Amino acid sequence: MSIAANISAIKEELGNSEVKLIAVSKTKPVESIIEAYGTGQRIFGENMVQELVDKYEKLPKDIEWHLIGHLQSNKVKYIAPFISMIHSVDSIKLLQEINKQAVKNNRVIDCLLQIYIADEDTKYGLDFSEAIELLRSEEFAALKNIRIRGVMGIATLTDNQRMIREEFYELKTFFSGLKETFFRRDSHFNEISMGMSGDYKIAIEQGSTMIRLGSTLFGTRSKK
Ligand SMILES: *Cc1c(COP(=O)(O)O)cnc(C)c1O
Repeated sequence: MSIAANISAIKEELGNSEVKLIAVSKTKPVESIIEAYGTGQRIFGENMVQELVDKYEKLPKDIEWHLIGHLQSNKVKYIAPFISMIHSVDSIKLLQEINKQAVKNNRVIDCLLQIYIADEDTKYGLDFSEAIELLRSEEFAALKNIRIRGVMGIATLTDNQRMIREEFYELKTFFSGLKETFFRRDSHFNEISMGMSGDYKIAIEQGSTMIRLGSTLFGTRSKK
């Protein structure tokens, strides 16, 4: 199927739900993004800063770019002028740098805390206690140019549906706890970014508000 057909199939599946589709275009050429853009898709996700900046420069300026991959502090400055959301905040140090660059650009940058939910050692993210510690810290309270919009998580890569369901359930439950404790009066804390091509149906069932789909829309990626 074409990219356009893939997107409309997913849009149809989402129907009237509030779930937002992040089209993960990493490793794919700008032509593929233009095809997706032609269907009305405006939110795209990338995981490498250089690639993201290159694509940003070449493509229409009403695209909302989301960074979904691990971000090094020294690269924040390249995306700070235009990034719509950073899904992968995993330390106070990174958040401080995002805030600093946001100040320089006279804007507020939306961020998600990446929470470690998988049963794998290789994934980035904060565990539950680290996330709470971050939100309680004085360093965090001082940051005025970032806005925490919610959480992001990546489930274990497994065929075990029950395990994936449990991980997403835990993330949703953790989100609700954070909302109650830290963001009770903040209506902007409302996003749960979970679900990829292999597990987005379970993620939606468990309360995802943003699914990040790459291969389902653009076809499989060749390994680098
Ligand atoms: C690559 C990637 C995706 C999309 O993966 P697919 O399985 O191709 O849908 C989603 N989220 C993150 C963080 C990614 O790195």
